[in-house]
Amino acid sequence: MGTEFKTKALVLHEMQIGDYDKRLILLTKEHGKLTVFAKGAKKSNSKFLSVSQLFCYGEYHLFKGRNNYSLNKAELIDSFHSIRKSIEGLSVGLYILEFSEYVSMENHNEQNLLKLAIYTLKQIEKDRVKLELIISIFEIKLLSLIGYLPWTQSCVICNSSEKLNAFNIKAGGIICDSCINDRAVYKMSEGTRYTIEYITKQPIEKLYNFSVEDYILLELQDISKALVKENIEKSFKALEFLNYNLL
Ligand SMILES: [Zn+2]
Repeated sequence: MGTEFKTKALVLHEMQIGDYDKRLILLTKEHGKLTVFAKGAKKSNSKFLSVSQLFCYGEYHLFKGRNNYSLNKAELIDSFHSIRKSIEGLSVGLYILEFSEYVSMENHNEQNLLKLAIYTLKQIEKDRVKLELIISIFEIKLLSLIGYLPWTQSCVICNSSEKLNAFNIKAGGIICDSCINDRAVYKMSEGTRYTIEYITKQPIEKLYNFSVEDYILLELQDISKALVKENIEKSFKALEFLNYNLL
């Protein structure tokens, strides 16, 4: 006998199964990433139609069978509909889903990751913060959550607290002028250092309440991109599309 339980979840991925059914990858709050069968979800009169699309967030009632999970019912909380208003916003949204899918684990509490994804999608919809800044904030916060916290307190190599003007990607932290001898080093101004520190320390709900000058954004982008490349061995389709075509 299986059991039914309910959980808040975000649809990260949908796959068509035959003519009528779907398989969904959900990021759930308490149980991490789950693959769930949604019977009949493709039918036009299905009760799952509005809760089985990408970006749907809601309360999902799941049945755990011997080998799989299936969807029993769901109540939609948000579909992030306006993310689809622009191709840029949509692509960043897809990147958030793709990245979340890649780093989340099955049967693991992913409360923070889910919260970060939801707050980030909300920001894309609001269209108040630059998409480039949203991407960098998301990347740095996500890396911090999964164990790659960028070190910003003192030189990560010699512990000095003076002349901290660069960031060493391989060492994962700020470095002083005397320790600059590596190729994986990026220039980092004081403002960029504060911004990184702010992102790693603030609670998720307060992450997207600031903007920065253009030179800081450029430095921040360089560093967050390089940190993702160094620590996450995957290239994300949505981001490649964005980099080559839009941003
Ligand atoms: Zn040093």
